[in-house]
Amino acid sequence: MPLQCSICLFAFREPVSLPCGHIYCKICLTDHVNVPTNKGMTSTCPECRKPFHLTVPDVTYLPEKYRPFIAHAIRRVYIDTAPTEAEADVALLTEKVAELSRQVVKLQGKLTRQAKIEAMLDECECLRIKYMYGEIDRL
Ligand SMILES: [Zn+2]
Ligand SMILES: [Zn+2]
Repeated sequence: MPLQCSICLFAFREPVSLPCGHIYCKICLTDHVNVPTNKGMTSTCPECRKPFHLTVPDVTYLPEKYRPFIAHAIRRVYIDTAPTEAEADVALLTEKVAELSRQVVKLQGKLTRQAKIEAMLDECECLRIKYMYGEIDRL
């Protein structure tokens, strides 16, 4: 779906969708339906020419349980455009956190190796002392 209104060829301003699925700026569609040739109750999609109703049935006399089924032919749509500054900041910080987490894992690995080396050195020292005191035989 191109993020561009096919009437004005700009990025959508207050995009609205028609039953056919085509999306236009609210202002462009308003201009489109407010032409003298307009028959009043219906208009057609500028792109696929599919007719749609401009009026909405009066739901005042409709039982409440049926009202959710009555919808405006023209609906406001919300489109994700470029990320906002805050979202960009969040993305940056998320990346930083991920990088720091990787560093933590690396350092933990180093610490584990360091601890193993220290344990080995301790053992060597222990053997050296035992050897000095003649507790173990010369190899
Ligand atoms: Zn437009
Ligand atoms: Zn259409």
